[in-house]
Amino acid sequence: MSNIPHVLILGGGFGGLAAANEIRNNLSSSQIKITVVDKKNWFMVGFAKLWIIKGTRTFENSIGSLNELTKKDINFLKEEILQIDLQNKNIKTTTKILPYDFLIIAMGAVLAPEKIPGLLENGMNLYDHNQLTEIHNKLKNMKSGNIAISIMGMPYKCPPAPFEASLLIDSMLREEGVRDSVQIHFYSPAPITLPAAGPEISQQILTLINSENIVFHDSCKIKLVEKNKLIFQNGEEANFDLLLAIPPHVAPKIVYDSGLAKESGFIPINRDCKTPFENVYAVGDVTTLTVTDTMTVPKAGVFAEGEAITVAQNIIAKIQSKKESSLFDGKGGCFIESGRDTASIIEVDMFSEPKPSTKLTESTAKYLDEKIQFEKERLSKWL
Ligand SMILES: Cc1cc2nc3c(=O)[nH]c(=O)nc-3n(C[C@H](O)[C@H](O)[C@H](O)COP(=O)(O)OP(=O)(O)OC[C@H]3O[C@@H](n4cnc5c(N)ncnc54)[C@H](O)[C@@H]3O)c2cc1C
Repeated sequence: MSNIPHVLILGGGFGGLAAANEIRNNLSSSQIKITVVDKKNWFMVGFAKLWIIKGTRTFENSIGSLNELTKKDINFLKEEILQIDLQNKNIKTTTKILPYDFLIIAMGAVLAPEKIPGLLENGMNLYDHNQLTEIHNKLKNMKSGNIAISIMGMPYKCPPAPFEASLLIDSMLREEGVRDSVQIHFYSPAPITLPAAGPEISQQILTLINSENIVFHDSCKIKLVEKNKLIFQNGEEANFDLLLAIPPHVAPKIVYDSGLAKESGFIPINRDCKTPFENVYAVGDVTTLTVTDTMTVPKAGVFAEGEAITVAQNIIAKIQSKKESSLFDGKGGCFIESGRDTASIIEVDMFSEPKPSTKLTESTAKYLDEKIQFEKERLSKWL
């Protein structure tokens, strides 16, 4: 039997790929064995979904293959993970039981449209990769009517993304020459556009979408969806011809079953991304990292990546018998594409003193280039 320590990484998304690569770039296969498990064999940068909706991308042109990991001496297993057994230090997949010395849980958030009565039957899911082409076709065929973009639960992935989606849809409709006869209404349960970025940036985002005639409705907590109708908890209603929903997000069920998170919550972590179990870490969308009484680290790829690198550095330190000293720095930037061939970035420093800082840059072609580079870089360095 080999006594090479085994790092098992659950999920081959932003967090899983960043961790696997960081560890392998610093430790050879004679020092550590790495296995990534994912039920799918591809990775896509989240925002490419919006380009598929816009029609400037296809699904096939937007993914990288997880099978490429094996070229770097990172094992990849395409199977569903069915159980995490923290007592016996193993996980169960469809056909295997895999033991671990270090476990990194990077399983992301699950979209749960079934939590909103009537949504599955009457609306489209803006974040579901299986629905993007259909959404594109519906938008292309739309000549008049009402589009509702509705955030149906908090927290959700990439807080600015639905606003970006509204701007890209606005530009599509302009290009089709039908924008004047199609209304875009945006419904959010929050009182301002981007609570995670604070009131000033929220006002800037509001000004930006209003300048394109996108109407923002705040504090709209959804109750249920009927045919062509949203019904909110306060009894108010709104009609739509096409509903693009951001459904509630939950942690995968096996995470609750393992006891690491409470039902309807995510795995609580601190800046070291440790769980109460030795050598078991959690990163990215599957976690909650509290910053202040009212703020948690947003669910975004950049933060999943930063947390994953923190964990990787601490595992590397342990293997090298050094002190584990890395803490997640809470820094990152999220792009907002304007739909007019420019983008801006919300720059975030979650742990700056005395309070988290956020800054919205101006919208320029240079930042749109950076967004395109961001995707290229991730795909080429990870796969
Ligand atoms: C439209 C859109 C735009 C976005 N734009 C940005 C952006 O501009 N910037 C940014 O930083 N982020 C953006 N994001 C958010 C970003 O994609 C996520 O925050 C990020 O992917 C989270 O990384 P993660 O590793 O935690 O989870 P994921 O990347 O979701 O990875 C989790 C992986 O675990 C696997 N998995 C889960 N359960 C199981 C199981 N039981 N068995 C096997 N495998 C399993 C999944 O298949 C998945 O591959 C965007 C997201 C969307 C939807």
